[in-house]
Amino acid sequence: MLKRLVVAIDGPAGSGKSTSAKLVAQKLGFLYIDTGAMYRAITFLAIKNNVLQNNDAIIELAKNSGLDLEFTNGETHVSANGLDITDKIRTQEVNVNVSDISKIEGVRKALVDRQRELAKKNIGVVMEGRDIGTVVFPNADVKIFLTASIDQRAIRRTKEYEEKGVHISLEEIKANIQQRDTIDSTRDVSPLVKAPDAIVIDTSNISIKEQVDVILNLVQQVVHKKE
Ligand code: C5P
Repeated sequence: MLKRLVVAIDGPAGSGKSTSAKLVAQKLGFLYIDTGAMYRAITFLAIKNNVLQNNDAIIELAKNSGLDLEFTNGETHVSANGLDITDKIRTQEVNVNVSDISKIEGVRKALVDRQRELAKKNIGVVMEGRDIGTVVFPNADVKIFLTASIDQRAIRRTKEYEEKGVHISLEEIKANIQQRDTIDSTRDVSPLVKAPDAIVIDTSNISIKEQVDVILNLVQQVVHKKE
């Protein structure tokens, strides 16, 4: 029986995870799963339902929102119980609240279960997030930890928003990224840390093509070993 091949890509905001994960998945014909979009979706729903201060209600949302991800036209489309909420999950209000929601153990448990479920849809999966190589798939075949300087990360994020016609200042984006980094890497449950066996790639001064090639080479090595 063919064993599933999992590529886990972790790292802080703006380190290049989405860009390289999408391209690697496309090249290999693998399923691409952006787990950050799921934490963002629950955050949006918590805001919408006015339950940001009620952990039990947020855990219920994480368990019962029927979250689904569909990757089409270069973008992850997120739906909750069949309703498309893709354009609602990348607002500054979600940016500011998502790391606090992601600290809640029951939320993480529900979303990790869903992530493992979604991964079953394909024999090859590229999953990106903060805890993929440590918690979601500790036995992933390839584990990558991407980093980049805070200035580079903030510049990239600002450009991405500009391209979508959203104007948020560089300072505001940098402050939000720093705040999320701190909360994400110091929380008790599944903090953002490099898995001991992950390979670190600093993307501050390399091109997207270079990042993608390094990851593809690592995947090729694993595939050869399996043959
Ligand atoms: O990847 P992105 O920056 O969209 O993730 C948004 C937030 O979701 C992160 O700052 C983090 O708080 C949370 N997250 C997480 N675990 C993951 C993916 C994202 O806690 N696997």
